[in-house]
Amino acid sequence: MSAPTIGRFAPSPTGPLHFGSLITALASFLDARQRGGQWLVRIEDIDPPREVPGASDLILKQLDDHGLCWDANVLYQSSRLDSYRDSVEQLLSRGLVYYCQCNRQRLNELAGVYDGHCRDLQLDNRGHSARLRIDAGAANISFSDQIMGHYKQSLGPCVGDYVIQRRDQLFSYQLAVVLDDEYQGISHIMRGADLLDSTPRQIYLQQCLGYQQPIYAHVPLALNAEGQKLSKQNLATGLQQGMESQNLFQALQWLQQEPPKELARQSVEVLLGWATEHWSLEPLAKNPVNAAVPDHY
Ligand code: GLU
Ligand code: ZN
Repeated sequence: MSAPTIGRFAPSPTGPLHFGSLITALASFLDARQRGGQWLVRIEDIDPPREVPGASDLILKQLDDHGLCWDANVLYQSSRLDSYRDSVEQLLSRGLVYYCQCNRQRLNELAGVYDGHCRDLQLDNRGHSARLRIDAGAANISFSDQIMGHYKQSLGPCVGDYVIQRRDQLFSYQLAVVLDDEYQGISHIMRGADLLDSTPRQIYLQQCLGYQQPIYAHVPLALNAEGQKLSKQNLATGLQQGMESQNLFQALQWLQQEPPKELARQSVEVLLGWATEHWSLEPLAKNPVNAAVPDHY
């Protein structure tokens, strides 16, 4: 008997849902529902300086307005800090984590690949970041993505020992996401392709912690007219209230699901019913290219 499917959508509360985030929410929802599985929502609120007041509630309301109903209670990462702390301690006691005192200037000079400078300095945590040691023997990660195909990365030369807790004590996205995907029993992770190159870091951490590896599907990115990924940084506009059916219809088209045009004016329930029944990853997997959003988004 195979384990039940559990999918998830894990937004950071940095602004309202925009067309790009709707696409990944919808894709993960349809994929989980079509497999008869559960779909969970997790708010990734572990970086207070980047958060916008009210954004969590707004995102949840927007999901609800689009008929994307989640199972179980929403998990807020801000309620999980004790678990993150325990894991850092555990990795530390196993010699897999060490503290790093390198300043920003030094790190900038390294251009993204940490050189292990502080590995053997035996520093304490005060004002220092915690790095996960990349064991040379185990760090060639490869996996098969359901959309992007085979993907591999050598963590040593491409990333180096990476930060799991910052010097300001905030936990890193890489740590929190791995612990919570395990905690919530997530079997299928579907998210934006901008996170494809984070996945080997997450798989490595899963291996260190003895977790099972979920199945991944990275959805191509929705681009604005300038060819950039839609994001709050480049002022992607939030989805407008009252346009839910149209948003879903356009998102289905963007996801290459070819919804029949009669669906365009239907209720969100009818749209989602059709979309769940017809959901297929195949068109995206055949043609996994970033594509522009429709004009008015
Ligand atoms: N919170 C992340 C974001 O909004 C996504 C995390 C994930 O799906 O793994 O970009
Ligand atoms: Zn260092």
